[in-house]
Amino acid sequence: MTNPNLTSNDLAAAVRNIPDFPQPGIQFKDITPVLADPRLFSGCIDLLTANVVPGSIDAVVGIDARGFIFGAAAALKLKAGFVPVRKKGKLPYQTYEETYQLEYGSSAVAIHIDAVKPGGRVLLIDDLLATGGTAAAAAKLLQKVGAEIVEITFFIELGFLKGREKLKGFPVRSLVLY
Ligand code: AMP
Repeated sequence: MTNPNLTSNDLAAAVRNIPDFPQPGIQFKDITPVLADPRLFSGCIDLLTANVVPGSIDAVVGIDARGFIFGAAAALKLKAGFVPVRKKGKLPYQTYEETYQLEYGSSAVAIHIDAVKPGGRVLLIDDLLATGGTAAAAAKLLQKVGAEIVEITFFIELGFLKGREKLKGFPVRSLVLY
């Protein structure tokens, strides 16, 4: 580990709470202070990848958009490829799509049909688990391409929204629980 003394408490202390963003009643968890601090960012990647042996998976899958930041860094650390799950309409080749409900609004995500080879082992990463709709949609996309999900890992989990219930059957882990 790059930062053996860094704990999830250090990360939690750096997350900035923004009330009523992007709409009234939502407390937005701003992770940019973590990204801006090299010690916290690298420590966060160390903790996110702690359960996976480098070289043991084919790809890290990151969810649009903040999942790309953590996912790409995790992929390099794990000596794995990186696969984006993007908002619908952004990927240029043939895609699978899944529609889902957000904590605020609804959306759809997509993956290239050949993004992971059948049976490929992947770690799915996003910044935050809220209602679980986004991650559940991403997991369904990975099942469509035939990938094996080794773990679904989040930096932050809003436990009161019970997102884990949408991810039953998968190993789910988060670093900071609210
Ligand atoms: P959900 O599908 O409800 O689990 O929402 C997860 C996605 O929405 C994540 O990709 C987050 O980036 C974003 N999100 C939802 N709620 C929040 C929040 N309170 N603060 C920051 N991001 C959020």
